[in-house]
Amino acid sequence: MGIAKGAYEASIKYAKEREQFGKPIAHFQAISFKLADMATKIEAGELLTMQAADYKNKHKKVTKLSAIAKYYTSEIAVQISTDAVQIFGGYGYTKEFPVEKFYRDSKLCTIGEGTSEIQKLVIAREILKGN
Ligand SMILES: Cc1cc2nc3c(=O)[nH]c(=O)nc-3n(C[C@H](O)[C@H](O)[C@H](O)COP(=O)(O)OP(=O)(O)OC[C@H]3O[C@@H](n4cnc5c(N)ncnc54)[C@H](O)[C@@H]3O)c2cc1C
Repeated sequence: MGIAKGAYEASIKYAKEREQFGKPIAHFQAISFKLADMATKIEAGELLTMQAADYKNKHKKVTKLSAIAKYYTSEIAVQISTDAVQIFGGYGYTKEFPVEKFYRDSKLCTIGEGTSEIQKLVIAREILKGN
């Protein structure tokens, strides 16, 4: 979630600053819709994470919810950091701005500590058991 939020915040700032065709690129719907998608995914990811943490704190079974939270947040981190690179255009590919690092780092999150495929395997197993 930290990577996703970092990429989102950098994108908002850059989209307001960078001007093309006489206006900030944030004024183009293609860009603002990306920002809206990012914001929506971040809110959903935070809720899933907090829900799993709440269950854990209450000593309730957390297998399905933690797998859902891990799967969803790592995938949206990749999606959001990919969109961030796109918003930055050519600069997104350089090391002058932080988003290329968010892009690289986010990918590990879908692999380490249980790949997305394994999270889906866990989720499917739990829902088929009726949990
Ligand atoms: C930068 C980095 C840091 C890491 N740090 C640590 C660390 O600190 N501690 C640690 O323990 N590990 C660490 N890892 C290892 C990481 O946890 C493993 O890479 C990860 O669990 C995947 O295992 P694997 O690489 O053997 O892939 P494999 O198990 O060979 O999987 C390859 C592909 O097959 C899929 N797959 C495998 N089995 C199934 C299945 N049953 N059903 C469906 N799909 C399947 C996987 O999802 C994946 O897409 C790190 C990895 C990286 C890249």
